[in-house]
Amino acid sequence: MSNSLESSQPENILIVDDHPENLKILTQMLSQQNYKIRKAINGKMALNSAFSKPPDLILLDIVMPEMDGYQVCQQIKENPITSEIPVIFMSALDEAFNKVKAFEVGGVDYITKPFQTKEVLARVQLQLQLQHQKQQLEEQNQKLRQEITKRQEVEIQLSLFNQAIFTCRNGVIITDATQPNNPIIYVNQAFEKITGYSASEVFGKNCRFLQGEDRDQPNLDIIRNALKNEKDCLVIMRNYRKDGTLFWNEVSISPVRDAGGNITHYIGIQTDITERQRIQTALEEANKKLQYLANIDGLTQIANRRSFDETLNREWCRATREQQPLSLILCDVDYFKAYNDYYGHLQGDECLIQVAQAISQVVRRPADLVARYGGEEFVVILPNTDGSGAVQVAQLIQEQIRQLQSPHVKSDVSPYITLSLGISSIIPSCKMSSEQLVNAADRALYQAKQQGRNQIIINTNINPKKTQPLQETG
Ligand code: GH3
Ligand code: MG
Ligand code: MG
Repeated sequence: MSNSLESSQPENILIVDDHPENLKILTQMLSQQNYKIRKAINGKMALNSAFSKPPDLILLDIVMPEMDGYQVCQQIKENPITSEIPVIFMSALDEAFNKVKAFEVGGVDYITKPFQTKEVLARVQLQLQLQHQKQQLEEQNQKLRQEITKRQEVEIQLSLFNQAIFTCRNGVIITDATQPNNPIIYVNQAFEKITGYSASEVFGKNCRFLQGEDRDQPNLDIIRNALKNEKDCLVIMRNYRKDGTLFWNEVSISPVRDAGGNITHYIGIQTDITERQRIQTALEEANKKLQYLANIDGLTQIANRRSFDETLNREWCRATREQQPLSLILCDVDYFKAYNDYYGHLQGDECLIQVAQAISQVVRRPADLVARYGGEEFVVILPNTDGSGAVQVAQLIQEQIRQLQSPHVKSDVSPYITLSLGISSIIPSCKMSSEQLVNAADRALYQAKQQGRNQIIINTNINPKKTQPLQETG
């Protein structure tokens, strides 16, 4: 029989007896069982030995001179280093032996002399075994306590996370991906606040109820694809509160996987961006308005010079690319200074508005543009229109102005408002610039003025160096 319990180290036993004979017998008995024996012949020695190197078990004689076994045991139990060591008392049958006191001072068992080998060994082994089990239990307890502490820490963290999710400003939805309908199993406070639905009202439902009847949303495809490919996604949805009002919902959806990599849940984080969306729309509208204002002449409400420049450049490039004709008509009100002087500036403004409207009524093709060129000058861009087409438009303008019958008593050419019109027309090439086309129209207009006003002149030669008589039209 081996003395040691699972451990390879022999167990240490301290035998305390004032009779050397007893020490000898016991040492022999126990050494044979491979126990490591230390001996003490009095209480003082016993305590010194036990405190300096605590044994696994103490066999302690009761009747000893100076210090008896009870006293020794008491001191052993009082010292934390030795308090857990089992003490077995030894007493002769004829000695006065107080069992109650033996247990009171901390003894765990007793052996009577003369020693019965089997009994001694059995009691020693039992105590060592009990001690060993006690230590094992203690270790298990220690582990359990550590685990409990760890769990408590995790619980605190979980509760903090829970609180953070519950109270954060974003709506949080968790759905169960293992169920066929992917039902909602959790929503936080912000979700309830944003949507107006309480948690109990939405549990078990699929998130799509938030779309109401509005199922034709382009971003739904993004969500479907993300779910199919098991990816995250971020989309903006039109969602509806419990009271039916629309809110713009920016939702991020992420799958949650178990240890095996299977998707078990989806977490949706939602932000109510209705206000952001409203501001953005207002900004876009303001921008459009600005864009409009930047391109419109304040007085006549037709395109301004800036818009003319832009359009001309664009159309010039297009006509060059497509090798299509491009024509310009420059119109100038005749004797307008005199008009202003006679009728006053306000009436002059009114007249310019009328002229702008009259020209706009004639020029109707979508690609055409009527713009105020400056002062009492207007310009018309006619893409895909050759010279003769432009002349026709100019004649229509002239006719429209004539029909206005707007009185102009200070005009030398007519009792009514009239225009002089200069036309230029070309199929542009890369060697020319749109500026040349404008200059050509300007020269034609100058000639119309020179020749008596209230007439149309066309200039198809946009190269000013080659002089060529301009064409007068009826
Ligand atoms: P012509 O027949 O040679 O074109 O003579 P005109 O008097 O029409 O030409 P001129 O260039 O001498 O005068 C143009 C006038 O147009 C002068 C200016 O006071 C007037 N004018 C320019 N812009 C405006 C405007 O916005 N409102 C008003 N009421 N008058 C304007
Ligand atoms: Mg002028
Ligand atoms: Mg004029």
